[in-house]
Amino acid sequence: MGGRAESLDMKHPAPIHPQLGEGFFDTVAPASFPKLTLRYRNDRWAARMGLDGLDDVAWLAHFGRFEPLPGNLPAPLALRYHGHQFRVYNPNIGDGRGFLFAQLHSDGGRILDLGTKGSGQTPYSRTGDGRLTLKGGVREVLATTMLEALGVDTSKTFSLVETGEQLARNDEPSPTRSSVLTRLSHSHIRIGTFQRLAFEQDDARIATLVDHVLKHYMPDVSRDGDIAVRAAALLAETTARVARTGAQWMAAGFVHGVLNTDNINITGESFDYGPYRFLPHYEPAFTAAYFDHSGLYAYGRQPGTLMWNLQRLAECLRLVADEAVLLPVLQTFPQHFETALVKALFARLNLAHREHEADLDTVGAIFQFMHDSKIPFEQFFFDWQGGAASLARASQSPAAEFYARDDFADLREVLATYAAAVSQRLAHPYFADAEPCTLLIDEIETLWSAIDERDDWQPLYDKLAAITRAGQAFGNIEEA
Ligand code: AMP
Ligand code: MG
Repeated sequence: MGGRAESLDMKHPAPIHPQLGEGFFDTVAPASFPKLTLRYRNDRWAARMGLDGLDDVAWLAHFGRFEPLPGNLPAPLALRYHGHQFRVYNPNIGDGRGFLFAQLHSDGGRILDLGTKGSGQTPYSRTGDGRLTLKGGVREVLATTMLEALGVDTSKTFSLVETGEQLARNDEPSPTRSSVLTRLSHSHIRIGTFQRLAFEQDDARIATLVDHVLKHYMPDVSRDGDIAVRAAALLAETTARVARTGAQWMAAGFVHGVLNTDNINITGESFDYGPYRFLPHYEPAFTAAYFDHSGLYAYGRQPGTLMWNLQRLAECLRLVADEAVLLPVLQTFPQHFETALVKALFARLNLAHREHEADLDTVGAIFQFMHDSKIPFEQFFFDWQGGAASLARASQSPAAEFYARDDFADLREVLATYAAAVSQRLAHPYFADAEPCTLLIDEIETLWSAIDERDDWQPLYDKLAAITRAGQAFGNIEEA
């Protein structure tokens, strides 16, 4: 008999979070929803977790009613954390509408959390209802799929279930439909998790958390030395990973929107997608969240914001390490970011690397041209795949007039000197499409309207298939 979790080759349960002990989480109960309708299951990632054999009934039992997975957490855990929200310290947050449901090894050996959004109230809900709107859930499915396709180190959406309630929200026509989302994430330990312990002056638990993170999420980092050395090692690794993710966002034209310290994972994996946007064209001042009046988290300010957030992490680690060991580590951020930016941009364009300084100049010239010309962001990457290999393609592009302009002449010459990193890539049928795959706000609104007005989910599923195909063309998603 297949279909139920007990009968599956359930890969490697790894419920490690309880090992942290008291003070890190609270046991909570999921909400009981009036109706469960499965809207999205990520079979690609379910296969990687050994969960693809679940039939839909069992899926809803685990990802709608949150019946425990065999050998995993016996009850969900609401995680404790604080955070700087728009630079203001908030000690009254924590998992207010989500919890840690299970932890598993993926086929790659990494430990991944199944964590929720919209699963009910917790001790940290304050005045909130603990719920997620269906539109919010749909937006997160789209964001995670697109970011994965573009090569960003992101959480994955594992499941989206509509839950049959009517929610009231200021930022959506209300009442609006409800959902519960399950995400797959490489830890849910945030900078804010450390901040809460520092707020409580709990250096013993900071040390416990440092060692937990090093052991389970940074296996290649040495755990030798005293706690100060180990804390600095963690900071070094988180700095490198966060810088890399920030660089990947810049190359993806992605604006996260809410870069509070509670939304920054210690593993550097990008997660928690609320009012995000993809850029229509390169614009440093482009701001995603309607409530971000000062543009604090605008596209071009993301690297600086990440650095600011890492400084907050370093402050927490001051309880167990001297400033003298932490400061030099923080100062590695710009170098990590620069290296990662070249790598991410070259990967997006499928260009073979040359000497770093020359490649860095190329990156600068590309952003300058995109800024001056305001050509559609994704179009440039589509048109110049593989550098020289795309000279003829680019001249056929709807943006060809921009490429014929004098201010592009130098960059054109430079691009023509680059070879493709992966020569077969251009042979993918995606690159013969009339236009690139994008995820601009109007497209998302149109997909949502079909669901909202006609309960028509097909446009969403078609879009997810199109994004996945693009991800395969870019070599970021395996061919089925
Ligand atoms: P976010 O902006 O989604 O990162 O959330 C910031 C904080 O607000 C977290 O502690 C969330 O759990 C909490 N929160 C957001 N929306 C709700 C809600 N509808 N009910 C309860 N808590 C919420
Ligand atoms: Mg959050």
